[in-house]
Amino acid sequence: MTKIIYLDYHATTPVDPRVLDAMLPFFGPKFGNAASGTHSFGWEAEAAVEVARKRIADLAGAAAREIVFTSGATESNNLALKGVVTAAGVARAHIVTVATEHKAVLDTASTLAEAGCRVTVLRTGADGLVNLAQLREAIGPQTVLVSVMYANNEIGVLQPVRQIGAICREKNVLFHCDAVQAFGKFPVSVDADHIDLMSVTAHKMYGPKGVGALYVRRRNPRVSLTAQMDGGGHEGGMRSGTLNVPGIVGFGEACVVAAREMAQEYGRLGVLRDRLRQRLEEGLDGVHVNGSMEHRLAGNLNVSFERVDGDALLVALPDLAVSAGSACNSHGGAGSHVLHAIGVPAELIQSATRFGLGRFTTEEEVEYAAGRVVEVVRRLRAQSPV
Ligand SMILES: *Cc1c(COP(=O)(O)O)cnc(C)c1O
Repeated sequence: MTKIIYLDYHATTPVDPRVLDAMLPFFGPKFGNAASGTHSFGWEAEAAVEVARKRIADLAGAAAREIVFTSGATESNNLALKGVVTAAGVARAHIVTVATEHKAVLDTASTLAEAGCRVTVLRTGADGLVNLAQLREAIGPQTVLVSVMYANNEIGVLQPVRQIGAICREKNVLFHCDAVQAFGKFPVSVDADHIDLMSVTAHKMYGPKGVGALYVRRRNPRVSLTAQMDGGGHEGGMRSGTLNVPGIVGFGEACVVAAREMAQEYGRLGVLRDRLRQRLEEGLDGVHVNGSMEHRLAGNLNVSFERVDGDALLVALPDLAVSAGSACNSHGGAGSHVLHAIGVPAELIQSATRFGLGRFTTEEEVEYAAGRVVEVVRRLRAQSPV
């Protein structure tokens, strides 16, 4: 078999060679613990962590002291929701989130509900967008937190984050945003968007796996957060545990590269994604785009094919690394909860295919992938007409 084309950039991204270069010394001679305050090994590591912290903060329009390092966005989402709700008192708290959120938010909300927190899960339209009137209505006197993601990891739909933030600010409710798929792709500003807590992760933006951050607003308003990890009191007491220094350095470098290149890259990906869609629609009938095309991340295309078995499609495309809507996540069940939530019928969920384009995707790869999908869908339809 020839080269496999990677079109799964929402699942993870390769580490950019420039990021790897920045990290390598911290696996070698610069191995110190950033918490070692008594010698130069520790000081060197701490200084590198603080440079990275500032770089991540700059990309978010935040202050460095508002960045808490974590093991990734799953942990950041857990810390945001559990931290705010615990600080407010679980039994008195109410939170609002959305049915299309990442499982790291939805399952955390379920755990909090079991502990006595009231949880409202908003539905979306077929376009995947939150209805702002419904959101406003859901916020009550006990509401402490609204959690809505920036860009969806399956359908790429961009929520009206700025308006959501404005509503939260007006109602005096904290706003948490899982910005994993947005951060480093286009400009994000915690102040302009009225975001109080924001989850990000390095491995979705050409940094290493196992390192992320939670932005926690320190003023106007100052967020009260209860730590979820007890120990040495690292990260201002909000997240104990020895810092992943090489990972953090890589995360910082990934932010520098993203800041420099995002504007041009975002435009390039939009063109490639539109070309992919055009090729599929020219070559095939019965192609359905899942979610809003207008409010969508540039590198995302999520489409379903009528009269095609999703498993057979994947099996016939071993040369394309894409993701399937039929894929059960670790919870099992009937495929993507996101596609289900936006009302995609079961027949189209099972053939849903997510194309995630990114920094190393070329025009040739997109043309090849489109050609292969068209060829295989035609063949499968001819073989077993449903
Ligand atoms: C990948 C992802 C996460 C989880 O991030 P990890 O760092 O892998 O834990 C959370 N939210 C969204 C939207 C994601 O795409």
